Amino acid sequence: MTVHRPTGLDAALDLLADRSPGHPLLPIAGGTDLLVHWPQKIDHHGRDSLDLLGIDALRRLRWSDDGLELGALATYWDVIVDSRAGDAFPLLAEAARQVGAIQIQSRGTWAGNVVNGSPAADGVPVLMAYDATVVLASRAGRREIPLDAFYTGYRESVRRPDELVVAIRLPQRRHALQRFVKVGPRRAQAIAKVGLAVTRSDDAGWRVVAASVAPTVRRCPTVEARLEVGPPPAAPEDLEAALGADVSPIDDVRSTARYRSRVLARVLYDAVLPAGEAATKAGR
Ligand SMILES: Cc1cc2nc3c(=O)[nH]c(=O)nc-3n(C[C@H](O)[C@H](O)[C@H](O)COP(=O)(O)OP(=O)(O)OC[C@H]3O[C@@H](n4cnc5c(N)ncnc54)[C@H](O)[C@@H]3O)c2cc1C
Repeated sequence: MTVHRPTGLDAALDLLADRSPGHPLLPIAGGTDLLVHWPQKIDHHGRDSLDLLGIDALRRLRWSDDGLELGALATYWDVIVDSRAGDAFPLLAEAARQVGAIQIQSRGTWAGNVVNGSPAADGVPVLMAYDATVVLASRAGRREIPLDAFYTGYRESVRRPDELVVAIRLPQRRHALQRFVKVGPRRAQAIAKVGLAVTRSDDAGWRVVAASVAPTVRRCPTVEARLEVGPPPAAPEDLEAALGADVSPIDDVRSTARYRSRVLARVLYDAVLPAGEAATKAGR
């Protein structure tokens, strides 16, 4: 097994392109997903790898008039300590602080979270609720894919083996409402039983994204339409039919389908209430 350690993006893309079909290089960023799954992923053991950590150009957070660009090596910690990112996209820092614990936050990348494709991911829901796009690059060129169109199935995506994620872009918007909820067995080092990210802006309307309730992190278009045109929900049960059209929770080692459905409706109801109303109801 060979580990390639390029220091430039072009060299990395050349290495990916020069592989014979069926023997793609395995990109490694923080390694926090790859190494955890190493004992089970026997097929990875003989595979040559591409260590991205030497490519400084992928490390940065960049701002433009349109918004924020997270380089492929941007970590959760990079966002937590960036006050401008915290002000413009508060859900990013909120989710980042709930990923693993500080060791994982300082090593794990947003791009790794996206490509890993876990349905229980914490980074993906908030990125999707902000209408993030994924920038893919290969020797053949670049393309930009909306994150809500990136996944094709459980841990599968439109990314080709010769492509790297080089950045994640978030458009700047004024949000009237932004919420992230992670329901897990404890506050740190927990995998979500249910995850939810919700935003509402004048430009784009509602975005409702659910995690751990479908084969992929998933936007909920039926719920979004219900919130857009229907009367405000008077109880969690008012959202269950719309949620049922968007998600398909299962029983597994972390929870049951029934628990996930009921809790998701509850946290969604709380999340979409105006802040003052939520406080009043909580006090009752
Ligand atoms: C103890 C522990 C706790 C954790 N807790 C959480 C948690 O609470 N919430 C959560 O969401 N996740 C959690 N994780 C999972 C993991 O830390 C995150 O998913 C992290 O964001 C992965 O990023 P990474 O840079 O380490 O990815 P890596 O492990 O390096 O890579 C992950 C996958 O992405 C691919 N990849 C990485 N970068 C690129 C790129 N630029 N282009 C193409 N492919 C790429 C790799 O080939 C691999 O398939 C935890 C992991 C551990 C070990």
